[in-house]
Amino acid sequence: MSNKFLLKDLNKNLSKKDILQNLQILLKKFDNKKIVFSTSFSMEDQIITDIIFFNNLPIKIFTLDTGRLFEDTYKVLKKTIDFYKKKIFTFFPESQDIEKLYFEKGAFSFYLSLENRKECCFLRKVKPIKRALKGVECWITGIRATQSEARKKLDFFMWDENFNLIKYNPLLNWSLEDVNDYVKNKNLPYNNLYDKGFLSIGCEPCTRKIKKDEDIRSGRWWWENNTKKECGLH
Ligand code: SF4
Repeated sequence: MSNKFLLKDLNKNLSKKDILQNLQILLKKFDNKKIVFSTSFSMEDQIITDIIFFNNLPIKIFTLDTGRLFEDTYKVLKKTIDFYKKKIFTFFPESQDIEKLYFEKGAFSFYLSLENRKECCFLRKVKPIKRALKGVECWITGIRATQSEARKKLDFFMWDENFNLIKYNPLLNWSLEDVNDYVKNKNLPYNNLYDKGFLSIGCEPCTRKIKKDEDIRSGRWWWENNTKKECGLH
């Protein structure tokens, strides 16, 4: 069965709730080298990491180090590795890409235009994830529908045209409260920035804390208006 046909089968027959059972089914359908999970150490991602590591599932977990992350994010990376005593792979941007970017535009070009911001995200996130997803057929993410208008249109299993693979979003219909409860009840390591008013955490220069009534992703690229607040990964 081609993966595009498999997609229909997965959306029709797999549970929208039992993530562990779904991951076990996916591991029977895909070679375990072809199914991966990407984490940014968000609360959501910590839940999926917990399900994978706690149950010893043979699914590779990787993260992207853009070079501009918060120190708190590196701390939660270390805490997570120590907590589970498991490996997490890290993908970096190509050094020559960043050397050229700095030489031509400096270290803060992303504030100057949407084009520049997308260029930086492309070099620091999209290019590295292309390497991380090479040969992968199923990519698991921690996306939730209520994080943004664009994400409300997503499905549990979807075809990702950019990376030519099936994307599985197991937490799609989880609420923020569901996420907080899981992390707190299981006492999982999480990023300290959540306790300081950050609800969506990306690169340090492009993320700020938000007020109670603001949209979750409004703290990302806050100087941009009326743009889809995504970096090219989703
Ligand atoms: S979030 Fe900001 S610093 Fe990070 S890759 Fe995108 S533009 Fe660059």
